[in-house]
Amino acid sequence: MYNEAMIRWIFRAKFGTLMAGLSGFFLLETRYPAREWTTARGERLLSHALLALLNSILLAILTRGALLLLAAKLEARGWGLMGVLGLPGPVSFLLSIAAYDCFTYWWHRANHRVPLLWRFHRVHHLDTHVDATTSLRFHPGELLLSEAVKALWLLAWGPGPYALAACEAAVTLAAQFHHANIDLPDAAERRLRPLVMTPRVHTAHHTVTERTRDANFATIASVWDRLFGTFAEPDAEESRSLGLPETPQNYLGPESLLLSPFQ
Ligand SMILES: [Zn+2]
Repeated sequence: MYNEAMIRWIFRAKFGTLMAGLSGFFLLETRYPAREWTTARGERLLSHALLALLNSILLAILTRGALLLLAAKLEARGWGLMGVLGLPGPVSFLLSIAAYDCFTYWWHRANHRVPLLWRFHRVHHLDTHVDATTSLRFHPGELLLSEAVKALWLLAWGPGPYALAACEAAVTLAAQFHHANIDLPDAAERRLRPLVMTPRVHTAHHTVTERTRDANFATIASVWDRLFGTFAEPDAEESRSLGLPETPQNYLGPESLLLSPFQ
């Protein structure tokens, strides 16, 4: 079963899930936008989709298939923590998603602290208007580095290929949700915020001001920020100015997005 057919099936299932998520959040933010649209939506969609297309092709060729096969090999040999513990499938599946979410938290935090990583991650933060398409806006350099570090996590944790695909899909769906230009009603926000990263808290991670930008790094579970002391309460006024202080320009052209880490 762990062969080309498996890889193709996983690729298709993930693509379908992520397109459905993106379309759903795109429609939701069209119907209930939290912030006024300050840049042309068509231009945003086109530019961010082109970047995502380039990233998908690069990763499909270079890393995604290889990581799935590595996960399959580790599982078959019982390597990695999950292999050693031999927990029931659903428990191991859920634990893997939690562990991957925690790994993503630390990786995101490192992207803000390590100057070389920040060069690439700032392409994501240069966006002056955060919406669901911002979840597509990552420099290929950041994603390739992240795939390399993810391989180390795979070796240590040992999730199977299906669990790995579920981890990646869950993180991407959560990113689409918390980047979407929507805002939950106050009561829902209060209930959800201690558990999951909400659009309001993640928007605060995109502010020009550093107080909330250098905080709120979680992707799915907001518990990581609380646990590791990086939660900062969003402020409506601060959340009005998004982007980076040194560059008020949005850089929507794909070539300027690609070149900006090297300038
Ligand atoms: Zn960030």
